[in-house]
Amino acid sequence: MSLRRKLVVGNWKMNGNLAQLAELGPIAEAAREAGGVDVGICPPFTLIAAAGTRAGGLMIGAQDCHAKDKGAHTGCTSVAMIKEAGARAVIVGHSERRTDQHETDPEVRAKAEAALAGGLVTIVCVGEHALDRAAGKHEAVVSSQLDGSLPDGWEEGELVVAYEPVWAIGTGNVATPADVTGMHGAIRAALVARYGDLGGRIRILYGGSVKADNAAELFACPEVDGALVGGASLTAEQFVPIVEAAAPS
Ligand code: PEP
Repeated sequence: MSLRRKLVVGNWKMNGNLAQLAELGPIAEAAREAGGVDVGICPPFTLIAAAGTRAGGLMIGAQDCHAKDKGAHTGCTSVAMIKEAGARAVIVGHSERRTDQHETDPEVRAKAEAALAGGLVTIVCVGEHALDRAAGKHEAVVSSQLDGSLPDGWEEGELVVAYEPVWAIGTGNVATPADVTGMHGAIRAALVARYGDLGGRIRILYGGSVKADNAAELFACPEVDGALVGGASLTAEQFVPIVEAAAPS
């Protein structure tokens, strides 16, 4: 059995409103009852503070942060700001931001370094496009993203890696257990090569169309320490079975 406790994080993306925070109560209750699993929800920035008041033990996080503390960066939000709102975690380098906002590996690294320095659980996303996999370049692409996006000289704070094949996000095309096992093994090897023994402590999440009916199979794969869940995290009805599947039996 892995020594790493499983972590299941919901990414609400640009979805949700105050009324939807009613979902947090049953999710928190299920997490407490399941036991042995860490559970978080990353709502839009505007809901972080209200979510914090209804978290019931859930880790509330943000979906992005800026690398700088403050300044002339219209529309951006710093680590200190999201912390003050109540966030304990942040996702950086999600593929939707890498595509829509053209975020580069060095920018993702700078955000990760700022988030770790601020004491946030820092979830760095990596993942290949369908064409990369078709060309057999998926491990090379992910390895290059890890090289460029992970903080240098990391020793303190909680760093988490989320492997999210872009072709599996929001498509219903979940990666096979063999795909996931292969990539998570390669990521673990890269983390240990980079950080030594500390690399063995980093939780590696799988993300990409995780649902109630595939979660248990994915969580059983070696080096899968939990999941980053998009669509299926929006309601307790869909998210709770994923949390339960991650709990130790
Ligand atoms: C995500 O947004 O990180 C994600 C994995 O989305 P989905 O679960 O909807 O594929």
